[in-house]
Amino acid sequence: MNPISNAIPSLSSRIVDRYLMCGLASIFGVVSVALTLAWRGALIESVSITVAVPLFLLLVGSFIMRRSVQINESIENQLQHITTGVCSSPAELVPLIATTPVAAGWNKLLRQINEQGTLGSLEERLRETLDASAGKRWEGIFNALSEGVALTNPNGNVVLANNALVAMVGAASASDVAGRELGQWFATAVSPASAAELDEQQQKSNSFTIELLLGNELSAGVWRLSRTPLIGDAFEQGSSLWSLRDVTQQKLAEEMRNQFVFTATHELRTPLANIKAYAETLIDNDDIDVEHQKGFYNILMSEATRLARFVDDLLDVSQMESGAISVVRHETDMQRLIDEVIEKVQPSLQEKTLAFESKLPAKLPKLRIDKDKIAGVLVNLLSNAAKYTPAGGSVRLLVETDAEGIQLQVEDTGFGISAEELPRLCEKFFRSHDSRVQEISGSGLGLAFSQEVARLHGGEIVISSELNVGSRFTLTLPLN
Ligand code: ADP
Repeated sequence: MNPISNAIPSLSSRIVDRYLMCGLASIFGVVSVALTLAWRGALIESVSITVAVPLFLLLVGSFIMRRSVQINESIENQLQHITTGVCSSPAELVPLIATTPVAAGWNKLLRQINEQGTLGSLEERLRETLDASAGKRWEGIFNALSEGVALTNPNGNVVLANNALVAMVGAASASDVAGRELGQWFATAVSPASAAELDEQQQKSNSFTIELLLGNELSAGVWRLSRTPLIGDAFEQGSSLWSLRDVTQQKLAEEMRNQFVFTATHELRTPLANIKAYAETLIDNDDIDVEHQKGFYNILMSEATRLARFVDDLLDVSQMESGAISVVRHETDMQRLIDEVIEKVQPSLQEKTLAFESKLPAKLPKLRIDKDKIAGVLVNLLSNAAKYTPAGGSVRLLVETDAEGIQLQVEDTGFGISAEELPRLCEKFFRSHDSRVQEISGSGLGLAFSQEVARLHGGEIVISSELNVGSRFTLTLPLN
């Protein structure tokens, strides 16, 4: 049904209708008067005039009235259209073509409504655009975070994950992570001990921070994982926010610092304590025979040498850190250099009754190298072989040359190094956790410095080793 057919007649038409009804009533009165007059013998002309004049006035009046209420009627109709829903918004109202103040007022009102409507839709469009760009911006920030972040539902399944988390868990894309049970997934990715700890934390509380080891060694990787419950209308109750950060480097640096403090304390205190004890004995006792005195002086000398070596190692590494190591190259007779090195390490090899063998080509090339530094590297490799090989073992020095350069291999039948520790050997302050190594004094700086010296000569040190079998350190130096 057309809604207009239900509409109440407009006020204007009701006024006109009433006017017409009153007019008709008056005409009826006038006609009655005229008929009475005619009946009483009045002239037919005067009777006709009595009827015609009011009738004419009534028609003219109704015509004028219709015209004057037309504007009001049009306004009223349009307002009714809005009420009944024929017009869906005030913007659809039509202006009036008339010069009356009412029409001008109506037109002005429409103009203002239209302007406001335009402003409103502009505002709305602006808000929509802003909302969309704000959403995009948040998404951009979420994905740019270096920390892995994920949102899980009350069942612990991933609802949302950022790029960093996707990369850290080794997934190809966010859709691969979506829906996965995050806590359980972490448990399978970390070491068994960390998995057990994570499981315990998850049972205990909704909110926790835990460090997870990916393997047995720190170098295998360490993750710091946090879970925080999400509260608020925007989240399903029981939802959680997970954050994941790779703290491997930080942990390694911490370990290195602790190792340095431990090494420095050990390497300074032990020789100092010995020096003090032997010096006191020599001062307090006049009756020590010359033979014993000589022995004590030798100990004092070797402890002082140990102290000096540690301080030298520290200085070398601090120079290495600041990039201030200078390499002064001279043409060097490799045969002579190797002979001098062997002479230097011979006492420590003999002290441990180690069998020593050296295999050199008949002719060795001359290299432009920093003789002292390369000799230092070779002494360090051979001393290590002597230090970390049990008495009765053997140490070999093999030298080979080719068109590219020279390879100097130091082999031993010592403790060897585990596959996990092998990549860390040239880190400064790193010493094996093997208890046999820990019993022997050392700074953990020799290999770091040696590797740097080799690098500055355009060469390298390559290490291969097998735990409890032995190790091979190969120093390669290019001919040019
Ligand atoms: P230091 O010998 O003073 O500890 P290095 O930097 O020379 O320091 O060596 C670092 C670590 O590498 C040693 O502490 C030891 O654990 C390991 N290492 C070096 N050489 C050998 C070797 N020949 N056999 C077994 N382990 C070795």
